[in-house]
Amino acid sequence: MSDSEVFDGTRFRLFPQPGFLDSFAEPETVMVSSPPGTVGPGPSDDRMYTIFPVGKQDPYGIAPDGQAAAAPPWKGEIEEPAMPDENGNFDYLEPGTPQFETAHLFGSTRFVLDIWEDYFGRRIPFHSEKTYDRLELTILPSLENAYSGYGFLEMGGDKSTGKYRPFSLNFDVIAHEVGHAIIYSEVGVPDPENVTGEYFGFHESAADLVALISSLHFNSLVDLLLENTRGNLYMLNAVNRIAELSDNKQIRIAANDRRLGEFATGWVKEHHLSQPLTGAFFDILVDIFHEMLLDYGAISAEMEDLSDQLLATADYAPVMQEMFDEAYADHPEKFKQALLDARDILGTYLADTWDRISRQDLNFVDVADVFLEVDQDHTNGRFASIIRGNFRLRDIGFVEVGPQLAPLDKDSHANSVRTMLPMD
Ligand SMILES: [Zn+2]
Repeated sequence: MSDSEVFDGTRFRLFPQPGFLDSFAEPETVMVSSPPGTVGPGPSDDRMYTIFPVGKQDPYGIAPDGQAAAAPPWKGEIEEPAMPDENGNFDYLEPGTPQFETAHLFGSTRFVLDIWEDYFGRRIPFHSEKTYDRLELTILPSLENAYSGYGFLEMGGDKSTGKYRPFSLNFDVIAHEVGHAIIYSEVGVPDPENVTGEYFGFHESAADLVALISSLHFNSLVDLLLENTRGNLYMLNAVNRIAELSDNKQIRIAANDRRLGEFATGWVKEHHLSQPLTGAFFDILVDIFHEMLLDYGAISAEMEDLSDQLLATADYAPVMQEMFDEAYADHPEKFKQALLDARDILGTYLADTWDRISRQDLNFVDVADVFLEVDQDHTNGRFASIIRGNFRLRDIGFVEVGPQLAPLDKDSHANSVRTMLPMD
């Protein structure tokens, strides 16, 4: 980082993936867009404020008895807020304090908003702006979940392993919830009488894609992913190796092989229903990455053709991995640039798609059609066959999703403008 950059924004230290994973034991310093001196105690700025309440019992939105419960702002006691240093930065804070947690939550939220405001080419308003001047970012350790709600993001923690791991330090979780907030704002809150099952699947998919693409803005994560795979991202589809290749949960969710046909007779969990759509977009990302590698001359047309022919055959892994090992060793910097290009193409296309799509009667084939239109407008349809092929592979546009087979969990999307983290 050069000295001049010190004056461009505000610095935070973020964990690209949960800090307990060995690869990311150290947080990465990032610069968010807030001009120096504009982020105050909390941290807080003109759009949001972060607090660590003391004595808060229940999450916002819904009380344990199912009745409407408290809404922000929290008026009780809070832990000492994180303070900026003399240059307005927060990267001096050390993990293990409430102040680091609030700074991590604020910094991650601002980092994700910066990325997506760039893709949208404008400010993304919060859906709650009619009621609330600012979004409250709240930490609630007693909550074993994370919520994106009207006027707030609320972060609990994971106790499933016996050790408490706060979601305020989990970039994937924060980015996923910011993703829900973006969709509420840009696509809208559905009319509960007319909402389709696929709307809920779309919402979950969009939140996962926001988290995935945002994660790919961490230098250290991109470098590690390329080093581990030698640029052969299709390898991630070999499910048994994903955990070894990437600790990133969003990548594991995205590199799936679910098809919409599996839901023709019905569905129960929207997060399962979302997987064919997320998987299609992940494969589109990988295919665009290959196109970029071709453009940069980092792989040959023969190698790409062979990759397409061998895909899903037993020969793929041994033959292709050797070719990728060599190509990556020759041009690591071109591989990185190609991945960043593909990331930004997908991010821009998704933002344009969400900008155009209507919440009424939303289903996956509508998303696919708008996405194709966006590609037509940007490149005259350069990626149309890649896009069509990947949606076809997922049965999108070829099967109808069946009925909802069991009621949504009472905490789920349907009965409030609050979305939760998929916990399965
Ligand atoms: Zn979600």
